Amino acid sequence: MPSFATSPGTRDILAPDAARWRAFQQVFADGVETAGFTHIIPPMFEDLGVFLRVGESTEIVTKEMYDFEDKGGRRIALRPEQTASVCRAFVEHRPTTPWKVWYAGPNFRYEKPQQGRYRQFDQVGVEVLGVDDPMLDAEVIGLAINFYRRLGLSGVEVRLNSLGDSGDRDRYSAALHAHFSGNADSLSPESRSTLERNPLRVLDSKRPEDASLIAAAPRMSDHLSEAAATHFSAVQDALRRAGVDFVVDDRLVRGLDYYRRTTFEFVSTRLTAAHTAIGGGGRYDGLVAALGGPDTSGIGFALGLDRTLLACDAEGVFGAPRSRIEVFVVDATGGREAESICAHLRAAGIGSDRAYDQRSMKAQMKSADRSGAALCIIVGDDERLAQSVIIRTMEGGSQQTVSRADLVSHVTRMLGH
Ligand code: ATP
Ligand code: MG
Repeated sequence: MPSFATSPGTRDILAPDAARWRAFQQVFADGVETAGFTHIIPPMFEDLGVFLRVGESTEIVTKEMYDFEDKGGRRIALRPEQTASVCRAFVEHRPTTPWKVWYAGPNFRYEKPQQGRYRQFDQVGVEVLGVDDPMLDAEVIGLAINFYRRLGLSGVEVRLNSLGDSGDRDRYSAALHAHFSGNADSLSPESRSTLERNPLRVLDSKRPEDASLIAAAPRMSDHLSEAAATHFSAVQDALRRAGVDFVVDDRLVRGLDYYRRTTFEFVSTRLTAAHTAIGGGGRYDGLVAALGGPDTSGIGFALGLDRTLLACDAEGVFGAPRSRIEVFVVDATGGREAESICAHLRAAGIGSDRAYDQRSMKAQMKSADRSGAALCIIVGDDERLAQSVIIRTMEGGSQQTVSRADLVSHVTRMLGH
């Protein structure tokens, strides 16, 4: 029979990593819910148009989208990100503003798989719709920074820029186009083609042959309207008040077309090569309108779970949680004792496991070792007759015999609950 393995760019997340993922999402949820964000779970696929509307000139949409026709002839896409879905949901349900939501879950992009870059990858994120206040921009950035701190990460840098209002962005885009097309011969072929679709994205090129032209390119900061410049400096003031360090990087343009004004990226200083960006976000003041809703400003971020955990590995923080098994029951009498003792312990909320198939004592002790339990309970014929059990500490191996009736209270005390 042929056997199968996961598709390129996808992985099975097994123990203990799966519990680490869940803990990651839980830490995130706790932080943002404390700040007034409610949970949204958008569908994993949507009408292709939702994503086309927001980024027709971006690589995410042109090259990386998993789109297909379903059996009913609809054009569908697996979501490459969740901001568009949140905005579609806003237009569909018209909640009162400010609407502050958070999400967690997988996204799909047809990318070249490598370390830190997958075809199915997880993000956690927030979006706020209906607020213009620059204080919110700083608050949102601060939320991400606090989350990184709670994970234990210290090597995270905030890069900050303003893309201006849509008029500024268009003027800047034209200035970039003039700059790059005047020197098109010295650009890489990839950037020459990006230039025709979206001149801003040329700034994002990491190709060495483009570096000098990019360095000499006009600066966004010289093309900001007064309103956008005032907003940007208010964001920076609020970040300083909050004690959040940041670096202004006016080459930071980021993916989607709908970003306006504040834009930011979180970079791990401990990761290398192509995957140092562990999160990013910004304002997208035209997106809701582009999806058929009223003019509504928006801001949010998405943090890549997979890459952030790589950063945690690099810093040696936020390891996998301990096994939930605290007690392993070794039954030399056939298994019925383990059956009732486990039922008892579990009912009392004590994680416990056992062996099956009447394995030998030696094999059962090995399983106890592997289980991560702190205590082992041993029952042989003598204990069964005497209605007692032996409790043995896995570390140190000290043993005591206690009556079955006192088992739960003894174990609870020994585990320090
Ligand atoms: P990159 O420039 O690395 O491709 P991006 O700009 O496409 O990133 P965003 O769309 O801003 O990424 O998504 C936010 C975060 O999601 C990224 O900072 C990254 O941590 C994570 N991310 C994006 N694409 C992937 C992927 N293919 N695999 C793993 N994580 C990803
Ligand atoms: Mg990308």
